[in-house]
Amino acid sequence: MAVFLLLGLVVGSFLNVCIDRLPAKQSIVAPPSHCPECKKRLAVRDLIPIFSYLLLKGRCRYCKSAIPKRVPFVEAATGIGFVSLLCFYGVGAELAVSLFYFCLFIIIFVIDLEHHLILNKVVYPSAVIALIISIFLPQLTISPALAIESHFFDLGWASGIVSCLIGGIAGFIIFFALSILTRGGMGEGDIKMAGLIGLAVGYPLVFISILLSIILGGVVAMILILFKLKGRKQSIAFGPFLAIGAMATLLWGNEILGWYLSMIM
Ligand SMILES: [Zn+2]
Repeated sequence: MAVFLLLGLVVGSFLNVCIDRLPAKQSIVAPPSHCPECKKRLAVRDLIPIFSYLLLKGRCRYCKSAIPKRVPFVEAATGIGFVSLLCFYGVGAELAVSLFYFCLFIIIFVIDLEHHLILNKVVYPSAVIALIISIFLPQLTISPALAIESHFFDLGWASGIVSCLIGGIAGFIIFFALSILTRGGMGEGDIKMAGLIGLAVGYPLVFISILLSIILGGVVAMILILFKLKGRKQSIAFGPFLAIGAMATLLWGNEILGWYLSMIM
């Protein structure tokens, strides 16, 4: 457990590097960590997750420029997320897959929040990984709630990738339609991200994932407008809601679907 918390904190620190460098078109492996202001290379004592930030009071040791508050938040969230997922799944393939998506969604969440961007170089490779996962671990992409009822998924090893592809295409089409209906309220990045989520959660969970994101996005948008934190005309990044909806679906999608099916039958 403690090891997993540490692992999460260290991975969170790496996610910060990705979040800083990917939108700036920099490599995430080289050069080593440095202050973005004074370019001074950071030593290990400045790279300890959360503690370095607290000890340095949120400023660079050398030039005193402010370190974004996001840095310790991402580290803490990743650490807590890692431990929570370990408790939720126990050790196994499901844990590994959910950790991958969790990290991916954090990167997309924060970059979209800060830059209003969902990057192709994040989405495309992840889509390939989602397809590979669906081939080797089809049981993770097929909803048991549906598998019991229908023979649609009696396709052997191909069932995972079929579920995954239908989910991906459905997510893509729904958001493509939404972007036309909202006249650009949904960006190109949101459409691709919805497709990626479809690939990750498969059919039919993609519908639950999108529904959760839209409900959450709607509630938050209403609160922001109600308290005048955002104007009616200002755009709100939708990526974070897609990310939360998808993560919730990975964790509880089958329960939500099972509950829904029991309601209508
Ligand atoms: Zn500095």
